[in-house]
Amino acid sequence: MVEIILIKNGQVIDPASGKNGVADVLIEDGKIAKVAKNIKAQNTTVIDAKACWVLPGLIDMHTHLRDPGWPEQETIATGTRAAARGGFTSVCCMANTDPVADTASVVKYIVSKAKAEGVVNVFPIGAVTKGLKGEELAEMGRMLDEGAVAFSDDGHPIASAGVFRKALEYAGQFNVPIISHSEELGLSESGDMNEGALSTQLGLRGIPALAESEAVARDVGLAKEFGTLHVAHVSTAQSVKTIRDAKKQKVKVTCETAPHYFSLTEEAVKGYDTNAKVNPPLRTQADVEEIVAGLKDDTIDVIATDHAPHTIDEKNVEFQRAANGMIGLETAVPLCITKLIKERKMNPLKVFAKLTVNPAKILKLNKGTLAPGADADVVIIDPEAKVVIKKEDFVSASKNSPFISQKLTGKVLTTVVGGKIVFQA
Ligand SMILES: [Zn+2]
Repeated sequence: MVEIILIKNGQVIDPASGKNGVADVLIEDGKIAKVAKNIKAQNTTVIDAKACWVLPGLIDMHTHLRDPGWPEQETIATGTRAAARGGFTSVCCMANTDPVADTASVVKYIVSKAKAEGVVNVFPIGAVTKGLKGEELAEMGRMLDEGAVAFSDDGHPIASAGVFRKALEYAGQFNVPIISHSEELGLSESGDMNEGALSTQLGLRGIPALAESEAVARDVGLAKEFGTLHVAHVSTAQSVKTIRDAKKQKVKVTCETAPHYFSLTEEAVKGYDTNAKVNPPLRTQADVEEIVAGLKDDTIDVIATDHAPHTIDEKNVEFQRAANGMIGLETAVPLCITKLIKERKMNPLKVFAKLTVNPAKILKLNKGTLAPGADADVVIIDPEAKVVIKKEDFVSASKNSPFISQKLTGKVLTTVVGGKIVFQA
């Protein structure tokens, strides 16, 4: 039986085509069949989306699903359900699992497990180097054959410029980007938070902004000569400026930031909230302002969550010993709507391009559009709903969010993957 879903009267926002207006969306047989006014159809599941936004399903190009390795933090089952609740229909999972996703067999395992127990599309990102050690290149071609979409040693910078150059050249043969975790360990090592007056006052070890921006400058410099680069989780003003200049010089570089880098400053660490401990660390208001400027002028192409689940035991310790990272899949939409669209007056088309068509283009995924014939990955959002972030509402296996108790605007109501409703609020 062909399943038919008709989404009525929503504000259809499709950044891929620039369309933004009231229309109906008809889904048939897992594909977008039609987007038009007053569609009539029989034997359909009808969803009334009046006063809501209807968008292509969101794509998170930076997720940690922790599978294989740490089921107490997250699994593909729990992580993809968290994604669905957050409006994400595709997630790209990073390679720092146990074992590391540095071989075709681990990539194959993730793809088959995602088919068996996942509720959204899962695209693995393979490791650049064997064991994430930064020494010997991993078998990229074979991982691509099994479904990897890009390569990253995320969690670990590649210290050797020579290895990074070889990685850019090798990945270039396959026409895929290297995603860099740009960090100069000599400057950041064993730091707990952003370096400045506040770290001194709190007695915590500082990570200077230069630990990121110096590494970004090196990586961009190598990309200029040797390949295509995507910079992960940009957090500092200087990184944004460096990438802006590089784009003017036609360097093949794109980049992402995460919602916490435009929503929070280092002030969130006051009170030693370990949920605000993240790498790169939360920065200053001046950094936040430049991140927003970079989002507005499209220096920053993508908003990705860097969803990093950790157990209570890993976070419920003194700040210096706590694990880095925060969950992000279930808070991204209300943060983007509240902090960018409401507070900064950014156009929803621009904001959601960074969560749909832009990551799809960078990773060459046939996703991120509501064009007829496309996979029916769709999200319906109430942009005016008031929400309070609650720990007990998270479906992720982990609850490490610094946004708990925050009052935000914007709520995901329905998520459709391949024509199937996988989440309803
Ligand atoms: Zn990283």
